[in-house]
Amino acid sequence: MTTTRFAPSPTGRLHVGNIRTALHNWMLARQAGGTFILRIDDTDAERSREEYAEAIRADLTWLGLTWDREERQSARLDRYDAAFEALRAAGRIYPAYESAQELEVKRKIALGRGLPPIYDRAALGLSDAERAAKEAEGIAPHWRFKLDHDEAIEWDDGIRGRQKFAASQLSDPVIRRADGSWLYMMPSTVDDIDMGVSQVLRGEDHVSNTAVQIQIFTALFAAGFAAHEGAAKSLPQFAHEALLVGKEGKLSKRLGSLGCDAFREAGIEPEAIIALLARLGTSQPIEPIADRALLTQSFDLATFGRAPAKFDEADLERINAAIVHQLPFDAVKDRLPEGMDEAGWHAVQPNLAHVHEAAEWWRLVTGPIEAREFSQEDRAYLAEAAEALTWGDNPWGALTMALKEATGRKGKALFLPLRQALTGMDHGPDMGELLPLIGEAEARARLRAAAG
Ligand code: GLU
Repeated sequence: MTTTRFAPSPTGRLHVGNIRTALHNWMLARQAGGTFILRIDDTDAERSREEYAEAIRADLTWLGLTWDREERQSARLDRYDAAFEALRAAGRIYPAYESAQELEVKRKIALGRGLPPIYDRAALGLSDAERAAKEAEGIAPHWRFKLDHDEAIEWDDGIRGRQKFAASQLSDPVIRRADGSWLYMMPSTVDDIDMGVSQVLRGEDHVSNTAVQIQIFTALFAAGFAAHEGAAKSLPQFAHEALLVGKEGKLSKRLGSLGCDAFREAGIEPEAIIALLARLGTSQPIEPIADRALLTQSFDLATFGRAPAKFDEADLERINAAIVHQLPFDAVKDRLPEGMDEAGWHAVQPNLAHVHEAAEWWRLVTGPIEAREFSQEDRAYLAEAAEALTWGDNPWGALTMALKEATGRKGKALFLPLRQALTGMDHGPDMGELLPLIGEAEARARLRAAAG
């Protein structure tokens, strides 16, 4: 049974990077007929906001990334307490008393000596009396998870291949603050066990977290913490995606703020975002595929590269236009200008890069249109056109055929004055589709007005 999760912290809006992570987890679950969990990581009470949790749900809904189950960490504090006690009983958790400043000094000293800034475990060496003295001074401890330096950390990463870490090269992570609140590391592991998560797919900025979490998983399994029904009984499969960067190849500030609101305002369709993000950074071609099932079917972690994925807004625009050209009337009818029907949509659709531009083209049908200046010769031609206009199945075809025969005009000389007189513009939707929408009386009136 495949179970994936997307675990945003409600401390801000989703941006294109985490939308991509959400999408890929959604696709893994959907592809396998599994479960996709939305997990709100709100243990940081100070920075978490309900309005962001709401916005995350709204954005995922707009993108069509439906979740099967929602969990929130703030509702699971009992489980974290239980895990903490289990790990503590197993001797895997110890209190530490250093202040942030002291830790910073230690870090600087290590770096100054050319050493990696790994926590020196000084707190592990404290005697009971020394600990009691600290507490008598009013210093409450924070809590670290004790890594097992003898246990090799290895996993087969779904994207990065075999990964190995030496536990001794990692700091024992602080898992709980002095005020009792939780940091990310342990609750996430507890959740992945309790919720039976089978695949953890996230950004490569989490690779070293995975190394630490593997030991937390193993310690919790050993402590019998996963005995209950529905719990994961073994490590999830881990995969870490290369990060998303701007088209220049650098981590981009803009990407960090580019989210659903900006996309929606720019007239970007959810399907365009999905089509691009599904394959960006993979060896599969990025195509304007509006069929999610197809994208989901072809989704494959083995095609992901290890180089950063370059996000280019121009690609998104290009895919968006191609997707707009495929959208059926039903998918857009609520967003079209008043009175625009299926024939209207069909007429203007090929000219659109964004659905909202339909309104501009629709004005050519409803009028008023821009009055153009014509030469005397063209005015005579347009007067002739007004008379030649007949109304059958294909009024444009009939009109241009008749005028061609009567005047000997062809090409631009035949078509352009008509388009200008009928729409006020030099280019635009196919006249064969537009003219029936303008209607006979209005078309004749426009031709006459242009003829002067
Ligand atoms: N809340 C964490 C984050 O947003 C979740 C990471 C994870 O997927 O485990 O980075």
